[in-house]
Amino acid sequence: MSSIFTKIIKGEIPAYKIAEDEHFFAFLDINPNARGHTLCVPKKEVDKLLDLDESTYIGLMAFSRKVGKAIEAAIPCDRVGMTVIGLEVPHVHVHLIPLQSMKNATFQYKEHMTPELFEETAKQIRKKL
Ligand code: 5GP
Repeated sequence: MSSIFTKIIKGEIPAYKIAEDEHFFAFLDINPNARGHTLCVPKKEVDKLLDLDESTYIGLMAFSRKVGKAIEAAIPCDRVGMTVIGLEVPHVHVHLIPLQSMKNATFQYKEHMTPELFEETAKQIRKKL
């Protein structure tokens, strides 16, 4: 069965899209640690980061860097943190999280976002790509 992220990539379930190319897709995390929290995903469905072939791994990092730069330009923050966990969704994804403090990196604190704020945030980030 397809992962929830494959369904997002195929447009079968909605998401606030940030960027897409031939191999990768970026969209806002639905339960963000901070406003602008974004997930970068390879279209190829692989569970674990270190199981990606080398070129997909390197491509994912390059794509995430580009998206991360746009987040940094769009969202006031001290820096953009990058982490890979994958305990909830078994489809590799890089978390890009605007950080003000360690609180935003813990996955304990969550930011409440309305649909309008998600839409506006995605638009702001897309403008900086
Ligand atoms: P992890 O697998 O790295 O532990 O976490 C999965 C992340 O995916 C979580 O931050 C969670 O909020 C996010 N997530 C799970 N389901 C969805 C979804 O359907 N849409 C979006 N945009 N994010 C999701």
